[in-house]
Amino acid sequence: MGKGQKVIIIGLDGGTLNLMNPWMEEGKLPNFSKIKKKGVYGKLRSTTPCYSAPAWVSISTGVQPGKHGIYDFFPTDSLKKKIINSRYRRTPAIWNVLTDEGKKSIIVNIPGTYPPEKINGVMITGLLTPSEESDFTYPKEVKNNLTKDKLGKYELEQVVVDDIPKGLTAKYAPEKLAEQVNMITISHATVTMNLMQKYEWDLAMVVFRGTDDAQHLLWDRKDLILSCYKKADEYLGKFMEKYPDALFIIVSDHGFGQPEKYVYLNNALYNAGYLKTTSDPARGFNAFVTSMFDTFSKFIFHILPVKKLVRTQIGRKIIQSSGVKSNIDFSKTKALYHSVCSRGIRINLKDKYIEGIVDKKDYTKVRSNLIGFLNNLKDPETGENIVETIYTSEEIYGKNAVNDPLDLIFDLKEGYGAQELIQPVGGMKAFLNWNAGLSIISPPGFYDWVGDHSQYGIIFMYGKNIKAGKKIDASVVDIVPTVLSALGIAIPSYIDGKTLNDAFVKKPKVEIIEKKEKILTKSEFDKIKKFRLILKKNKIKVK
Ligand SMILES: [Zn+2]
Repeated sequence: MGKGQKVIIIGLDGGTLNLMNPWMEEGKLPNFSKIKKKGVYGKLRSTTPCYSAPAWVSISTGVQPGKHGIYDFFPTDSLKKKIINSRYRRTPAIWNVLTDEGKKSIIVNIPGTYPPEKINGVMITGLLTPSEESDFTYPKEVKNNLTKDKLGKYELEQVVVDDIPKGLTAKYAPEKLAEQVNMITISHATVTMNLMQKYEWDLAMVVFRGTDDAQHLLWDRKDLILSCYKKADEYLGKFMEKYPDALFIIVSDHGFGQPEKYVYLNNALYNAGYLKTTSDPARGFNAFVTSMFDTFSKFIFHILPVKKLVRTQIGRKIIQSSGVKSNIDFSKTKALYHSVCSRGIRINLKDKYIEGIVDKKDYTKVRSNLIGFLNNLKDPETGENIVETIYTSEEIYGKNAVNDPLDLIFDLKEGYGAQELIQPVGGMKAFLNWNAGLSIISPPGFYDWVGDHSQYGIIFMYGKNIKAGKKIDASVVDIVPTVLSALGIAIPSYIDGKTLNDAFVKKPKVEIIEKKEKILTKSEFDKIKKFRLILKKNKIKVK
């Protein structure tokens, strides 16, 4: 190890042993089975909340969200629906550490990496890259070579924008969706392999996201989900064959399961008076449009080229400006459920937001009222509590957490998923039912996922110095220190994870080096935020 050692990390978004174990036993995933026998495998604990943005950033930095500052796809320091980018990350990622050490990386399709960073190596950014027109590669020229005859055609996924066509395809042409996500996996695997041929590297890392999409949208079609795992298995085999001396680490950012019911948290906050809207959410225009869309979606899917339309400039604009938060009256709202994948509540503080209404002196009271509200939130069908555990941001992310985490974070009881929309639950029927109000509980409906994340993902490790057939338990923050130790590089002291010594036959020499995160100080960051606020208040736009 150390000198000359190469590491390949393959990410399988949402990979879960609950599905993989039986499939490996039945011989359906031969390459994963091989690693299970000849390498180590086990469960990988995700972040809280267990969603892709914080989890992939923890996998690539070795620290918990309180240090890296990514808690959600949507920045937690803004009430509006913006999307995070790599500049929100406040700790170096493994590719920065390797760059400092003179080692080379090839980094492909990691969520939240746009805009690409200048690294010693090559980077193609992943999910949350704004559009095909943006510069999503480093070096810039790599983008020009993403063609069939050179590095391979690159399929760029676009979160939010692609959600509607993907959801509709899952409903009305599920086989086609599986085919589409598998095409994306092939594209990302091919480009990565071609980059590994063309450029030098010590670390190569690629994330396959097909398993996440398929499990969210096609949970009831295990045959199609299996096809996505098989596609990943097929390419894993190709990588293993081509690089027999590399250390392989296969990880997922979280596991997967099936929510039986969804809790509409903003409906609950609206009913309790914490959240106000600009028009009646049960009867207003938004409610009409969402229930209309639900009713006529099949027709729309079959007659319109939805995927093309949403990707046009105007389509993109409409989608980004609509959505859940367009209907909230922030000047009268005390608290809101931040986003579908935030598992957290934001208190609308006066000091923090232009339209903030909660005084700093009332903060503790409002927060404890909200804790009471969550603790008492009951499923009307069963009378049972819905929320499992509630944490304050300090409890879970520490007192010095960066980038302003949400005020309350919580886990739901098993079997519940969360929804952010404020609307009648149950389509046109609910809309037309004049006295229905806003229910808070529903079986997975038109706007809900049929599958959703769970706390434990997967880890597989395979290589010459890796034990055979051993089970290990690990956390998302353990990947970076393990890779650094394997490459013979000292681990910066701010890293939260530990080297997975149990996986190795000959344990790597683990060195820790005293190092502070390269992050902005609190006062520097506050200055930037204050500046942003002044610009906003005076409606000044910065180009
Ligand atoms: Zn994910």
